[in-house]
Amino acid sequence: MISQTAINALRKTEIGARGLFIDGAQTEATSGASLTVISPIDGRPFASIADGTAADIDRAVKSARKAFEKGSWSRAAPAFRKKVLTRFADLIEKHADELAVLGVRDNGTEIGMAYKAEPLSAAGTIRYYAEATDKVYGEIAPTAESVLGLIHKEPLGVVGVIVPWNFPLMIGAWKIAPALAAGNCVVVKPPEIASLTLLRLAELASEAGLPAGVLNVVTGRGAVTGEALGLHMDVEAIAFTGSGPVGRRLLEYSARSNLKRVFLELGGKSPNIVFADAPDLKQAAVVSANGIFRNSGQVCVAGSRLLVQASVYDRFMDELLSATTRLKVGDPLDLTSDIGAVSSAEQLDKNLGFVAKAAAEGARLVTGGDRILTETGGSYMAPTIFENVTQDMQLVREEVFGPVLGVMRFENEEEAVRLANSTVYGLASAVWTANLSTAHRMVRAINAGVVHVNTYGGADITVPLGGVKQSGFGRDKSLHALEKYLDLKTAWIAL
Ligand code: NAD
Repeated sequence: MISQTAINALRKTEIGARGLFIDGAQTEATSGASLTVISPIDGRPFASIADGTAADIDRAVKSARKAFEKGSWSRAAPAFRKKVLTRFADLIEKHADELAVLGVRDNGTEIGMAYKAEPLSAAGTIRYYAEATDKVYGEIAPTAESVLGLIHKEPLGVVGVIVPWNFPLMIGAWKIAPALAAGNCVVVKPPEIASLTLLRLAELASEAGLPAGVLNVVTGRGAVTGEALGLHMDVEAIAFTGSGPVGRRLLEYSARSNLKRVFLELGGKSPNIVFADAPDLKQAAVVSANGIFRNSGQVCVAGSRLLVQASVYDRFMDELLSATTRLKVGDPLDLTSDIGAVSSAEQLDKNLGFVAKAAAEGARLVTGGDRILTETGGSYMAPTIFENVTQDMQLVREEVFGPVLGVMRFENEEEAVRLANSTVYGLASAVWTANLSTAHRMVRAINAGVVHVNTYGGADITVPLGGVKQSGFGRDKSLHALEKYLDLKTAWIAL
């Protein structure tokens, strides 16, 4: 774990102006323009990034294509890719303190969580896919004796990666690592408010021996660089995590350009369902509070709809309130803070808009609801709980992506399933019960990519993550994710 001494030494490091990373080196944006990076910790500027344009995306795609055609990565022995990716993971671990603090200055996540979820998780993901590199086999088809049917697995070509600001390294690695392991070349478009760690990641990849052009990073505004990547005629696939509206655009871009594949990991409004026979109500309350409030609720799988069985409702709400008020919101670079800053002033305003609307629609505010620690200049929000929320309220229908929880009560299993599935989303969920049969029935009944039982939010790289319904399609993580970045080619040979 990172120490407070290390954090204090790194938190004032001069960052300066960061360029793009194209063809193995830092480079200026074609326009020469830049974007100021403001830290949500204190609302102050501390760096700048290049404001890329469509011309920069084009340079990066050309570099990636050139590297792909050259073959020093795409056609290299898998054992070579494994070696380089393993060195890459080692270097990320070596620089974990630096990357974690840099990321927190950029997006405000509490350091305890960021340290594990960002550099360490990214290194683990890269190592996982590095190890898979030389274990992917082609197939021989069961044909008649007069022919030989071979199924080759080949990289797609150039893959575009577009990620959000909540966990840019972790989510970036979920896409970059399998794409590279499969032999593709990659162009990353980081989120405009949290680009710094992905730029540093590209430098470390280069230091690890990744050939020039195999991994490029173009910063800038989503509507400019993201759109240019989505519309590019020489990109074979886009792997995206972010909001539903931008996901829809990417599908349109694909249709308007070269029919590139698009994989979408979108938002959620995940139900967390507490039955009266939950093994330990107090523990369920503590984990549920963390499941919505960690990283200020800016977690795609956050359990933002809490459903509690009526017979234990009052008891559970007491436990939940006490668990919530114990959470310390504060400087994300202080190891004693449980919750850091909201990622930006704009996001905080958006959250407060949801609070105002929930109150206006008749929900009852149990705790929180306001901006706090204003004297810091940063963007901090108190963990917020509303009860008496109903199905027609905005708070139940729309993703806040902030520390705001809506609570409903239910009488029986049937009602719990109906409420849980009454959403356009289907990313995550949880069920708390001591009854094995109830747990298994709920796992089958809930429409979501993941159902947690007697926990919230745990997972590792070995299991897939992704949604159903309007939470998107395609899966990150696990060996299944590798398949997204490989194409099948048939050889039909007459003997
Ligand atoms: P966003 O959709 O606004 O931005 C995501 C990325 O898309 C950013 O890099 C942005 O620059 C880029 N972008 C913006 N406009 C674009 C355009 N016109 N064309 C191409 N790219 C464009 O989302 P956000 O606000 O950064 O992140 C929050 C959202 O991400 C939430 O909805 C959250 O649920 C979702 N999310 C989902 C997961 C998951 O695994 N399903 C994980 C984390 C976050």
